Amino acid sequence: MDPNCIFCKIVAGQIKAQTVYEDDHVIAFLDTAPIFPGHTLVAPKQHYLTMMDLPPQMLQPLFSVAQTICRAVEKGLDAHGSFVAINNKISQSVPHLHVHVIPRKAKDGMKGFFWPRRPYKDQDEMTATASAIRSAISGA
Ligand code: AMP
Repeated sequence: MDPNCIFCKIVAGQIKAQTVYEDDHVIAFLDTAPIFPGHTLVAPKQHYLTMMDLPPQMLQPLFSVAQTICRAVEKGLDAHGSFVAINNKISQSVPHLHVHVIPRKAKDGMKGFFWPRRPYKDQDEMTATASAIRSAISGA
């Protein structure tokens, strides 16, 4: 536990939260400033900063709970779908990894996560970008 982390304090019961799910490794609780009611944060109980820091064996436990929450907001809140997002470092206001699950309805007006998009300058820029990612994956 990181004593300065608000999500660690939620896990420890030192800060109150509306917990909707909890098991040995993962907790899910309502975001106090929701984009829409039911906006839920799914977090590992152990303190990891970003998705890159999460040990492989925690991927399934974390994302299976995110999947459970996606199903639950459709069933329990009449959502038509959901938006799932993680901020890694940039725009991450709480430095304890968490998955946002946001209930969506058709024409709900959500704009929050969809910043303006910019097309690639040309095909070369797109090819070079893909190539940089492929090289990073293969360790070249
Ligand atoms: P992010 O900016 O992606 O790190 O998301 C952090 C989220 O945590 C924000 O959406 C906040 O509204 C939410 N948040 C901050 N403090 C609390 C808290 N004590 N309980 C529940 N949600 C919180």
